[in-house]
Amino acid sequence: GLLYAMKGEIESMLTEDTPLLQEKAGVSFYRIREDIIACCGGVGKVNAAMATQLFIDLYRPDLILNVGVAGCFEDLPIGTLVLPDRFMQHDMDTSAVGDPVGLISGINMIELPADTKIADELDRVCAAANVNHRLGVIASGDQFVHTTERRVWIVSTFNASAVEMEAAAIAQVCFVNKIPFAAIRVISDEASGDVKIDYMTFVKAAAATSSDIALRWLRARA
Ligand code: SAH
Repeated sequence: GLLYAMKGEIESMLTEDTPLLQEKAGVSFYRIREDIIACCGGVGKVNAAMATQLFIDLYRPDLILNVGVAGCFEDLPIGTLVLPDRFMQHDMDTSAVGDPVGLISGINMIELPADTKIADELDRVCAAANVNHRLGVIASGDQFVHTTERRVWIVSTFNASAVEMEAAAIAQVCFVNKIPFAAIRVISDEASGDVKIDYMTFVKAAAATSSDIALRWLRARA
């Protein structure tokens, strides 16, 4: 199962003939190959969580891979691929009642792990394809991060490499459903200053890079 947030991200995966399997609660599911289903779940943690649970209930995927773009907290060029080994939710904060910042109550975890086997395979596929990539922590939250203040806070609190709005929610739903999960995120902006220009310019090309790696990986496993 491939899970995207936005139409602009899933676009490079679809052709005119790609069958739309169904649309449920605004989430579109497509058959990409006999053994691959992709969906476009929407932006933000609520949409991502809803789409993930629908995906699992409707199709019982062997694994879920989240593909998309992200803002960067390091000095990485736009187009660099981030393969997360861990995910956390930077806007989860019940510290006022004594919890550590970022703790997800119930499962009582701050960081959710990526499936190490999938992450290792993706790492090897990127290296073989000569694609600029690095491993790192992804911070998710319901904000387009663009201020220095927020950037510095997230980096110093969680040591995150990149920021986006869905992966840690998908990781949480996969974790409680025991579905292996990993992600590929391509840097579309620097998460600071005039992000809109970078983001708008690079989002489609960046998303296409991550889809390309996802397909190479899937071909290698088939
Ligand atoms: N209304 C716009 C919203 C895009 S939000 C739309 O529907 O196209 C940005 C998307 O890109 C989110 O899915 C998020 O995961 C990712 N993203 C890229 N750069 C980001 C940043 N700096 N901060 C947070 N999310 C970012």
